[in-house]
Amino acid sequence: MLAADLVIKSPGIPYTAPPVREARAVGIPVWGEIEFAFRYAGPCQVLAITGSNGKTTTTALLHHLLVASGFPARLGGNIGHAFARLVADDLQAGRTADENRIVVLETSSFQLEDVHTFRPRIAMLLNITPDHLDRYGYQMEAYAATKFNIARAQTPADLFLYNADDPVSADYLSRHPLNGPEQLGLRSPGPGLHVGGQLFDLEGSALIGPHNAFNALFALTAARYLGAEPSALQEALRTFAPPAHRMEPAGVFEGVRFVNDSKATNVDSVYYALSGLESPVVWIAGGQDKGNDYQRLIPLVARKVRAIVCLGLDNAPLHAAFGHLGLPMTDARSAGAAVEQAASFAVPGTTVLLSPACASFDLFRNYEDRGDQFKTAVQQYIQSGKTQKHVDQ
Ligand code: ADP
Repeated sequence: MLAADLVIKSPGIPYTAPPVREARAVGIPVWGEIEFAFRYAGPCQVLAITGSNGKTTTTALLHHLLVASGFPARLGGNIGHAFARLVADDLQAGRTADENRIVVLETSSFQLEDVHTFRPRIAMLLNITPDHLDRYGYQMEAYAATKFNIARAQTPADLFLYNADDPVSADYLSRHPLNGPEQLGLRSPGPGLHVGGQLFDLEGSALIGPHNAFNALFALTAARYLGAEPSALQEALRTFAPPAHRMEPAGVFEGVRFVNDSKATNVDSVYYALSGLESPVVWIAGGQDKGNDYQRLIPLVARKVRAIVCLGLDNAPLHAAFGHLGLPMTDARSAGAAVEQAASFAVPGTTVLLSPACASFDLFRNYEDRGDQFKTAVQQYIQSGKTQKHVDQ
């Protein structure tokens, strides 16, 4: 590897991996996949979205808003096809890039390591809350610095949108000002979404909860900046179908609602999931712990949760964090067992919420597999419940 002219790094490999460090130390350039793709993308407008939570929702929403407004936008990055794949497909098909081509890119912090010339026309940083700290030596500063890489190569012709209510983003920005792009700090919207003098609403849309209002504010601001018409945007908000595994309804049986939020792989997203629910909750949590600090959840759990089902190989961190609340707590090692146990605690009016706060790799292939197995287990539970009732009658 030290004989290489250039190293292109898959996002799965940490920037601290010994071979990558060695290459860097002897002056071999290291590019992330996003950097590689950008260098070959030709003249196009990249709209890049990063953040600890809300990336996929906001990316999919912005893409939907633009397509519905008549812009031929593409979608990729951490969602769908890799950026390099989009570029390679274009090159192979002989499609030449031009200034009007728009690529909406979800970019994870791993993908923002080793970017140098990557220059989005609009860069969006939704929030920075603890996640993946295991990869960053448990240093928030290093994690935040990586997220800000999204805007480092931007120029005054570009726009940087950030969350002015997020203390970590605001603090980092005050200590490390960006001297390139035009900057706009967005604040948590109230009931009405004001964007560039226009009022939008989420009535009748599937974007539920204060976090989704914030995601919509980012997407609408970007779409308006590119000139999308307000009436088309308002209509498109109503036709947007959010991606699966994010507060996804998974079934109702005898007054008990099942919700699949398997994508909630960190504490902050669980905070929003629980905040958005009114009814008593039976909470299914756990998995591979990434150095979570559960402290922030304790008041919410004490107020809303009636029982906790721990779905992980090692549930000790959950027991240590919540055991003192005196709630019923059980351990499960499969989605089926978790659903059975959760249902046994649920009275009519309860929501059974899978919102794990952890990665899924201890018991499942990935979060999609975990969510799919949960949905299947819920359907089996409902079917067997109906059959049981039939036999009893
Ligand atoms: P990401 O792609 O960044 O992981 P998603 O859009 O897939 O984000 O959402 C992941 C989880 O985070 C969901 O469970 C959702 O409830 C929660 N979430 C979505 N948007 C936000 C936000 N703006 N702030 C906090 N949590 C959010």
